[in-house]
Amino acid sequence: MKMTIVVLCSLFLAGITSLSAASGTPVRDYPFEKVAENTWVIHGPLEMPNVSNQGFMNNPGIVLTNEGVVIVDPGSSVQAGEMVLRMLEKVSDQLVIAVFNTHIHGDHWLGNQAIRTAYPDAPIYGHVEMLAMVDAGSGDTWVELMERLTEGATKGTKVVGPNHAVKHGDSFKIGNKTFRIHHHGQAHTRTDIMIEIEEDGVVFLGDNVTADRIPRMSDGNFMGNIGSVDKILGIEAKTWVPGHGPTGDAAMVKAYRDYLQAVYSSAEKAFNADLDSSDVKAISLQATIQYKGWAGYENELGPHGAQAYMEVEAAEF
Ligand SMILES: [Zn+2]
Repeated sequence: MKMTIVVLCSLFLAGITSLSAASGTPVRDYPFEKVAENTWVIHGPLEMPNVSNQGFMNNPGIVLTNEGVVIVDPGSSVQAGEMVLRMLEKVSDQLVIAVFNTHIHGDHWLGNQAIRTAYPDAPIYGHVEMLAMVDAGSGDTWVELMERLTEGATKGTKVVGPNHAVKHGDSFKIGNKTFRIHHHGQAHTRTDIMIEIEEDGVVFLGDNVTADRIPRMSDGNFMGNIGSVDKILGIEAKTWVPGHGPTGDAAMVKAYRDYLQAVYSSAEKAFNADLDSSDVKAISLQATIQYKGWAGYENELGPHGAQAYMEVEAAEF
């Protein structure tokens, strides 16, 4: 009898332990900053997901309409999504009525889970290619990656993908605001949408544009990304929200475009001089010197040069 109680107790305790481990660690508060009339952004940390930032590193945004709140990219985990909702309460007491996800990279959308739990009826919009990738299992890879990089801080996060597909040219009237979708083929990924709030001249760029941070491009295409940025710069807007780094004006957008162009031009130089893909880095070091202080620069410049070289090569044939 005594034995049974001991066994039952330890089973119960084991249950408690696994329960608390499954809940991860709450993400500390990162307040929203007002960037435009009706628009606020949390400018997340610039470093990669790690133990100290608990995986949180993107720029979640909120747009207030006269019918409720629209969230863009609620973060990298259920805990990040919960933090976004907590911070939202300090800005508005309105309910969340819609969510947009800019692309497939999990640091931007695994927070959907928290929004779905609190607002089961709010539609979550993403590019049609993103829905296909989530269906094919991309989200699970991101959940595992986040958990590993944060040593379990994001534990408990589950894949909740978008449930409404969007494409280029779609326009949504949500309350008194018009959300227009821009997608120009493969850029940072194949799944990118840029979201324009027409009445307020605000554009959420996703990772098609970043500031103070050089993102990975392994799912992207240099010329595609440059072309997408050139097209979006053709619209009238005042406030440009990058996927990472500070919100800015058109000059901020052009700065990232110029980085991509500098790397691509370096790759062309190497190719035309019969050099190898590994030689691009040395050439691009000169051409991109002004980006030296950006997070990720040291790690990404080499791979970016090699990738751009392959694109130059492919364009020749
Ligand atoms: Zn990304």
